Amino acid sequence: MSSQLNGGSPRYNPLESMNRRFDTAVEILGLDKQFADVLRVPDKVVICNIPVTMDDGTIKVFEGFRVVHSDHLGPSKGGIRFSPDVNLDEVKALAAWMTWKCAIVNIPYGGAKGGVKCDPRSMSKGELERLTRGYTIAMKDVFGPESDIPAPDMGTGPQEMAWIVDEYSKVKGQNAWAVVTGKPIVLGGSLGRVEATGRGVMVSTRTALAKMGIKPSEATCVVQGFGNVGSISARLISQMGVKIVGISDVSGGYYNPEGIDVNDAVEYVKNSPKRNLEGFPNVSLISNSELLELNCTVLVPAAMEDQITPENAHNIKAKLIVEGANGPTTAAADAILEEKGVLVVPDILANAGGVTVSYFEWVQNRLGYYWTEERVNRRADRAMKIAFENIYNAAAKYKVNMRVAAYVVALDKVSQTLKLRGLF
Ligand code: GLU
Repeated sequence: MSSQLNGGSPRYNPLESMNRRFDTAVEILGLDKQFADVLRVPDKVVICNIPVTMDDGTIKVFEGFRVVHSDHLGPSKGGIRFSPDVNLDEVKALAAWMTWKCAIVNIPYGGAKGGVKCDPRSMSKGELERLTRGYTIAMKDVFGPESDIPAPDMGTGPQEMAWIVDEYSKVKGQNAWAVVTGKPIVLGGSLGRVEATGRGVMVSTRTALAKMGIKPSEATCVVQGFGNVGSISARLISQMGVKIVGISDVSGGYYNPEGIDVNDAVEYVKNSPKRNLEGFPNVSLISNSELLELNCTVLVPAAMEDQITPENAHNIKAKLIVEGANGPTTAAADAILEEKGVLVVPDILANAGGVTVSYFEWVQNRLGYYWTEERVNRRADRAMKIAFENIYNAAAKYKVNMRVAAYVVALDKVSQTLKLRGLF
């Protein structure tokens, strides 16, 4: 997202936030320091420089990363982010979050993340294709259906995944569908994958509201970010009967206390010249910081890291926060929200629906047998519901908030596998 959002500010570091929660969980579990030391740092960090011929004939070099945080539970898994602000600490945090996320939803993967420092919005399709293929070649010995499986993240989608599967398959001399997930349906993608993260956010919202004794028809919701996760979360949450009163994207925040028709907003973005919400009618234009502080029952931050900070956490009015983005709340803001009695469904639980359906895609690729959308959704909803209940119960057991509980459950599982497998 843009500089309009306060994210990307050098004042906050997602890796520091991740480490603070990690240390809390280590303490609660009484985890042996040796195991904590292994899991605090990534297994592997690969940095590459990718030369790309631009449309005007000049050559530009782009920096790329792939961080493998762990592979104790299975091949490492995680998306690739194309963004001008992406940096190594951010990718390290995102890779570790993938480890915890996969453990929470009980899928047999470790965690990884990739990033390429580029501005995809200002690049042509041809430039993006050459960049994606160059990145794939640079990572050809890291990626693999049994070793490390990328997927989409901010700035990438099914088209980039199609180029990855094509380039990797060419290098290996055979079709390797299972090397990447989030592919187009005709190229071995899974039905339901595009909607999966937003769907998991909806299931988390529905389950949390039920725990709080709030009927969807009595709730209002604000969604920050209108990309894949934000727009689909907003649509599915509104289909539950919750009134969406605020949405936002790079162009600003949009508020209507009477409710916003999410389908109209999606259509509007599709047809707008800049592919964003600028000029969307029948709403008041507000800033992104005002959006986060709106009066509402549920707040879904689905844009990027470090949006809820000690500077604005006191002003948040939502009773429930469901984190669609990775790392939208800084560690320092956790305590403030807890004191205010806000229920936070943490990122590593709330947005785990995406990687869950990525796992289903990988399973279908390996089986060569493809499921109906109904089967995908049913299994993904069930996985999310079970994970939610586990974390909710762990929070009660350890007398901690759901974020700390999520880290405790994940760390407990991964450290057990580490102990059983041994280090070498
Ligand atoms: N990028 C998504 C995430 O952060 C999906 C990762 C995947 O499907 O592997 O969870």
